[in-house]
Amino acid sequence: MKITVVGAGLAGLIAARELVSRGHSVVVIDKGRGVGGRLATRRIGDAVFDHGAQFFTVRDPRFQAIVDEWLAAGVVRVWCRGFGSEQDGFPRYVGSSGMASIAKHLATGLDVRTSSLVFSVLPATNGGWTITLDTGEASETDVVILTAPVPQSFGFAFTGGVEFPEELRTIDYDRTLGLLVALDGPSAIPFPGALQNPDEVFSFIGDNHAKGISPVPAVTFHANPRWSATHWDTPHDEAEQLLREAAVDYLGGSSITASNFKRWRFATPQRNWPDRFWSNDAGDMVVAGDAFAGPRVEGAVLSGLAVAAAVSSAND
Ligand SMILES: Cc1cc2nc3c(=O)[nH]c(=O)nc-3n(C[C@H](O)[C@H](O)[C@H](O)COP(=O)(O)OP(=O)(O)OC[C@H]3O[C@@H](n4cnc5c(N)ncnc54)[C@H](O)[C@@H]3O)c2cc1C
Repeated sequence: MKITVVGAGLAGLIAARELVSRGHSVVVIDKGRGVGGRLATRRIGDAVFDHGAQFFTVRDPRFQAIVDEWLAAGVVRVWCRGFGSEQDGFPRYVGSSGMASIAKHLATGLDVRTSSLVFSVLPATNGGWTITLDTGEASETDVVILTAPVPQSFGFAFTGGVEFPEELRTIDYDRTLGLLVALDGPSAIPFPGALQNPDEVFSFIGDNHAKGISPVPAVTFHANPRWSATHWDTPHDEAEQLLREAAVDYLGGSSITASNFKRWRFATPQRNWPDRFWSNDAGDMVVAGDAFAGPRVEGAVLSGLAVAAAVSSAND
C-alpha cells in the first residue's frame, strides 16, 4: 500500500503520521520550502513572526490528547486564557518557537518532500494514480490524499476525472492581507500581546515578542476578510502603505525597522463540508483539510485523523 499525501500542512502531516504508525508507506509532498502550510513562522533579521495561524484552542478530547503530548514534549505551551475582555479561561496554545514548530515536530521521521509542486494527479495504467511534479518527475501511488485548500485540490481531482459534489467544489475561502513589522521599541498592544477585531481594518494584531517567540519587538497585523477582499487587487506597495498607516496607532511610538507584506488567498474556508473528509467511490482519492472539520487548527487535525482512520481501515 503506497499512499501519497499532497500538502504538509497540519491535516496532511497528522494523516501521514497516523498512517505510518499503522504500517503504511507514506510520502508527503509540499510545494512550500518548509512544512506547515498555514502554520507559518517567518524571520526578518532577529524578529520572528507567526504570519498565518496565531494560536489555537481545543474543544475535542482527541485533539486534547495530542496537545497534551505536544505540551509534554515542549512543542507547544499556553500563551494566555483570553484576549482583552474575552478572558474566558480557555487556554490559547502556541508553538513554543512559533506555530511552524508544531509542523516541524510532526514531520520528524516522515518522508516529506518539500519544494515539490504537484502539477497533476492522473489515473495510472494499472490502477491508482500517477502524481507528476512541475519538474516532470512522476511517481505512482495506490491512494492519494489531497489536503490543499479545496479549490486547489479540485483542480487535481477534475483533471484526474473525479467530480467533486457541487457543495464541495464551491467552497470559497476568505482572504487575508497581512503586515509584519519589526520595531525599535515595544508596541502598544496590551497584555497578553494581542487584539482581536480592534477596528475596521484588522481582525487580529499579535505581538510576537509578548507572545514569547521573538527576541525583539515584532508585530503581526492581519486585515479582516472584508478589508482584505476590498484591497486584494490594490497594488502591493499601496496596500502595504495603507496597512502601515492603519498600524501606526498600535506601535506605541516605536519606529518600524523592517516590514513584510503577505497575502493569503486561501486563509479560512467560508463554510464547511459536513463530513471530516470526502472520498471518491473507489476510496483511492480522498480530500481533507480544515474545510472539513472547522476552519481552524483543530479542524485540520480532526480531518487528518479521520482521513487516516478511513484510509487505513479500507486498506488493512
Ligand atoms: C492568516 C491566517 C490566520 C489564521 N489564524 C488562525 C488562528 O489563530 N487559529 C486557528 O486555529 N487557525 C487559524 N488559521 C487557520 C489555520 O491556519 C488552518 O485552519 C490550518 O492551518 C489548515 O491546515 P490544512 O492542513 O488544512 O491546510 P494548509 O495548512 O493550507 O496545508 C495545505 C498544504 O498544501 C500545500 N499545497 C497546496 N497546493 C499544492 C501543490 N500543488 N503541490 C504541493 N503542495 C501543495 C500547501 O503548500 C500547504 O502546505 C489561520 C489561517 C490564516 C491563513
